[in-house]
Amino acid sequence: MGDLRSRSDGTDGGIVIAAARLERAVAAVFRAAGSEPAEAALVAHHLVGANLSGHDSHGVGLLRGYLAAVDRGDLRLNQRLATVRDSGSLLVLEGRRGAGAAMASAAMARGIERAHREGHALVALRDSYHIGRIGAWAEQCAAAGLVSIHFVNVPAHAAVAPFGGTRARLGTNPFAAGFPRPGAAPVVVDFATSRWAVGKVQVANRRGDRLPPGILLDASGRGTDDPAALYGPPPGALLPFGDHKGFGLALACELLAGAVTGGLTQDGTPSEAITNSMLSIIVLPEALGANGYAAALEGLLAWVTAEGTVRLPGEPEEARRAAQLLGGIAIDPVTWSDMKAAAEGVGIDDLAAAGG
Ligand code: NAD
Repeated sequence: MGDLRSRSDGTDGGIVIAAARLERAVAAVFRAAGSEPAEAALVAHHLVGANLSGHDSHGVGLLRGYLAAVDRGDLRLNQRLATVRDSGSLLVLEGRRGAGAAMASAAMARGIERAHREGHALVALRDSYHIGRIGAWAEQCAAAGLVSIHFVNVPAHAAVAPFGGTRARLGTNPFAAGFPRPGAAPVVVDFATSRWAVGKVQVANRRGDRLPPGILLDASGRGTDDPAALYGPPPGALLPFGDHKGFGLALACELLAGAVTGGLTQDGTPSEAITNSMLSIIVLPEALGANGYAAALEGLLAWVTAEGTVRLPGEPEEARRAAQLLGGIAIDPVTWSDMKAAAEGVGIDDLAAAGG
């Protein structure tokens, strides 16, 4: 595939760039910032993977923020997972605020090995730096033939009001689950427990768009369509999806990923650091006696999608991936300019050229 697909010519200041080239460029930036080549490659692959799957809020636009976190000492490069407990199917791993893509992929690799050996694994990953798009970790398990469930919290980044409240007291605490399908892309359920993810509000704010009702409260606790109200000061609060149901799931994520794993939980201490803890349950379906897992899954999916208008979770991401692998990834002018500034900060003056 040709690399640079079209404009980087200043017509609008953005760029459309081939995924492979973007990945090489982002990896070069991380290497220049001090990451070992393997870590730089993992981080770049994860960020570009988020763009490819249509979740730009968790993609390469995070580059500048990640490098600022490195400078502050919040994101610690070249960390290795520390094993706190390794007993049968249980793994408790400490992420040491290391690069999230490296920490989570290593934790999943350990869990995958264990689930194949024991039939299931319970993996607690404590206090990694931002682990990004959680669906990627479900996809890693699914690629190994394993079903997985992931509960995640975002300590110190309170952005969501509990149902019945008006002040931000929880993170956007994502939930994900993945189900492998022989010969087809897995079913991947992956979402924040807020009505909108913070990144989507950021995009609306950047574009000057108004928000639909039911997304955001301003600092006085009134509903607002102004995305800037999230930031304040004083800051507003996102609402959980599904009223008390989304709040319940967000709280379960906080408890499972934070309190149960021994990781950090929300306590009102503000911090710029975006850490995540994650509790993952990884299951080999055959180990539960489910010899007919694949047939049961396919039968159910055929039943659920019978009307022809229904899309399965994971399908939108798969479609975006296919389209962008062909046509390149479009990066908006503000994000591209941010990324170039981040690259210059570590001595890379031509970011696009760094991708070869
Ligand atoms: P979203 O609202 O876009 O929902 C995505 C999910 O819904 C996917 O499973 C997708 O396949 C499914 N979906 C979308 N349209 C569908 C349709 N028409 N029919 C059936 N299924 C459909 O996701 P979000 O809440 O904006 O979250 C975006 C990303 O942000 C996620 O990848 C999440 O993991 C990530 N996130 C990460 C953190 C963190 O701290 N690391 C925090 C919050 C969110």
